[in-house]
Amino acid sequence: MFSLIIPVYNEEGIIDELAGRAVKTIESVSPNYEILFVNDGSTDSTLQKLIEVRKRFSRIKIIDLSKNFGHQAAFTAGLELAMGNYVAMMDGDLQDPPELLPEMYRMIKEEGFDIVSGKRNGRKSKRLRLITNLFHSFFKKVAGIGEIENTGNFSIMNRAAVNALVQMKESIRYLPGMRSFIGFRQGYVEYMREDRLKGKPKMSLSKLMVLGADAIFSFSKFPIKVCLFLGTLGTIIFFFAGIYALIDKLFGHSLLGWSSTVLSIYFLGSIQLVFLGVMGEYVYRIYKESQNRPIYLVKKFYDAETEQ
Ligand code: UDP
Ligand code: MG
Repeated sequence: MFSLIIPVYNEEGIIDELAGRAVKTIESVSPNYEILFVNDGSTDSTLQKLIEVRKRFSRIKIIDLSKNFGHQAAFTAGLELAMGNYVAMMDGDLQDPPELLPEMYRMIKEEGFDIVSGKRNGRKSKRLRLITNLFHSFFKKVAGIGEIENTGNFSIMNRAAVNALVQMKESIRYLPGMRSFIGFRQGYVEYMREDRLKGKPKMSLSKLMVLGADAIFSFSKFPIKVCLFLGTLGTIIFFFAGIYALIDKLFGHSLLGWSSTVLSIYFLGSIQLVFLGVMGEYVYRIYKESQNRPIYLVKKFYDAETEQ
């Protein structure tokens, strides 16, 4: 079976076209498929729209989450409930063209890849492109894991890779990083990212920044390294400054020094605050993970058995 996971959050305007295009392409891939829409706590009529399309396409299933958990959690819900031996993930705004799925499926079946991800060769939408690209190359360097440059959630995996991902229970999740972390044989398909079909982006700048921080903090010690580096640098600088102050004192210009004292207090104080912030970030993450809360909660699962 082939599973396609699509998280949706307030996408009422797109559901019809999305479902139509997804069903059409996926039917050309395999007659035995399921499309798992994960309704991530939408507050508009997304759920009603989904229930309606489900009447037309009986192979559509809906995972209705109990509230908005964020789209990484929504994908996770889909991954855990998907039954296919091949599982694809795709955004629900048609920025990832479903028409690419057959080619990705072919690569996984015929070329022996375990994971094939879509790689954007330039997005049509200018929004945040520069920041995203910079972020991806930065992340690749600091996290020391394989290729994630310009890949997002759009991907297809075989059962072994899905099982590996599902085993990772961390509550702060960054799936492109996790997908790269698990290894396996990874392939890429290049594509042009479309503008979202309708509606506003549901990932606000602040949500994207949180996702970025999650990626950096969960996959690297980079922030700690920065701390250590700055701390060491500061110590060295102030060691020599101290020697200078001592010599200065010995030669009798005693009242001098006031500004350097104040400056060094400010400087050291602010460095310490930054470090505390970074430490706090890690402590928060340890706390979050130790709470061991569920990543998502399902209100209702409209699967094959649920009445139409
Ligand atoms: N999404 C979600 N929960 C959220 C935010 C977004 O399920 O809290 C879905 C959204 O409906 C879309 C996908 O995740 O299908 C990607 O969102 P968006 O297009 O806003 O992200 P971007 O393309 O800007 O990264
Ligand atoms: Mg989008």
